[in-house]
Amino acid sequence: MSYTAMYRRFRPSHFEEVKGQEAIVTTLKNQIRADRIGHAYLFCGTRGTGKTTIAKLFAKSVNCEHPVDGDPCGECRSCRAIAAGASMNVIEIDAASNNGVDNIREIVDEVSYSPAEGKYKVYIIDEVHMLSTGAFNALLKTLEEPPSYVIFILATTEANRIPVTILSRCQRYDFKRLTVEQIEERMREALAGAGEDLRIEDRALRYLAKAADGAMRDAWSLLDQCMAFHFGQELTYDMVLDVLGAVDTGVFSRLLRHILNRDVAGCIGLLEEIVLQGRDLSQFVVDFAWYLRNLLLVKTSGEDSEEVIDISGENLARLKEEAQMAEPDAIMRYIRSFSELSGRIRFAGQKRILIEMEMIRLCRPQMETQDDALLDRIRNLEQELEELKKGGFSVLPGQAAGMPAGQDGGIQAALREGGGATDAAKREALPLAVPEEIRTLVSRWKEFTGRAPQPMRTYLRRAKLSLGGENRLQLVLEDGPDSDYFLKEEANRSALEALLENFLQKRVEVEYRAVKNRAEFEGSYVDLNQVIHMDIEEE
Ligand SMILES: [Zn+2]
Repeated sequence: MSYTAMYRRFRPSHFEEVKGQEAIVTTLKNQIRADRIGHAYLFCGTRGTGKTTIAKLFAKSVNCEHPVDGDPCGECRSCRAIAAGASMNVIEIDAASNNGVDNIREIVDEVSYSPAEGKYKVYIIDEVHMLSTGAFNALLKTLEEPPSYVIFILATTEANRIPVTILSRCQRYDFKRLTVEQIEERMREALAGAGEDLRIEDRALRYLAKAADGAMRDAWSLLDQCMAFHFGQELTYDMVLDVLGAVDTGVFSRLLRHILNRDVAGCIGLLEEIVLQGRDLSQFVVDFAWYLRNLLLVKTSGEDSEEVIDISGENLARLKEEAQMAEPDAIMRYIRSFSELSGRIRFAGQKRILIEMEMIRLCRPQMETQDDALLDRIRNLEQELEELKKGGFSVLPGQAAGMPAGQDGGIQAALREGGGATDAAKREALPLAVPEEIRTLVSRWKEFTGRAPQPMRTYLRRAKLSLGGENRLQLVLEDGPDSDYFLKEEANRSALEALLENFLQKRVEVEYRAVKNRAEFEGSYVDLNQVIHMDIEEE
């Protein structure tokens, strides 16, 4: 027994089996029922959307001896002859290989003979946009005044390449790409009656429907490929992944986390793994885009996400976790980026390099200027600020808000180099080196000042604590009586130092500074109270 390709084996024999083109099917069936059939039709749409299938069903119906509500009966002589490809009334021409004037002249000559049996001669010209200008002109005459028994069905994937003179003489129908659900539904229906040799797991079927990318014929071809390897067995999800060179979703989860962590090395390493496994890179890009799409659905549909996407419970849990880690606009940016890449990569020579570039672009939004990349950059800056705060730096609100865009990492650079940085940035670098004794003192300042005599106690409590040269404690006093008390009286300074020594059981050198007001303090000194208080909270 010779092998019949799936898409032939399961080609619909009734209009209702054609999925996704309901409006077209209804219109055509109504024309057949009312016997108001046109003479020139143009079917436009991407490949695998049912153009040829509907054209053939239409040809069968108009010639059927006992049509049932617009559908061909499938049993009369005409129906059987057409199904077997033996009918003289249905003439299929592939314009891609028969595009010359002579090919069309042959048809035009033939058209003048009425059909020997049956009502209509149906000419199906596939890929009609491939006809030469001369061929189109030769066809035009016949299209203008066709004999009553002739029907032309012109099919094309590129309607924009058809001359207007031809377009204006045809009833035009635009075929839509099929949804994953429509492809899945059709496959399930067709396979239900297929018998034991064609068993397929639900998840596997779903995956094929998705991989077909809107083209029914592709779905069948993919199933053909899988069956060639696993004939007679129930086809599982893992088998399908394996045959089609696809990867398990765990890899996508890892890739996403690398991107979110802006870990370029991690991304590149993971890609290396996939290359070594011999996976198909174009498929990988398409699948990752789908993964991100699912992530976005989970992110935006919340509790109802189980209804919307079809994955295992375990994977769903992981998606939910990841949905918490990413912002919708960032996910959308990733999806856009990978969908565009999937279009470009199909015919590219250096697929791996293209993917690597894309990964770097996503990890380094500062290299881009689109709005969504800018949002990512802002998020980057916010994260860095958070990190700095955790590291014990106090960041003034004005500094964060006033930060110029396009200087990602500017804070860190300022802290590292000091050069060109503001005073504020400089003083933030200090607290890391606060000696232990001083930390203790600051955190117990109230207790310590309680031991000081008046008026020293008041002055101390009004003073600000900062860090001076060589990590000395710096007492910043308000200019006036407070500063005079220490700066003008050596005895007061000695008294304080003795108290400190007693309190800490260590010698502590103190620097005294006077400032005019609070703003001057905030502009020039590290507020140890804030820094150390923050530390305590952290611990
Ligand atoms: Zn029939």
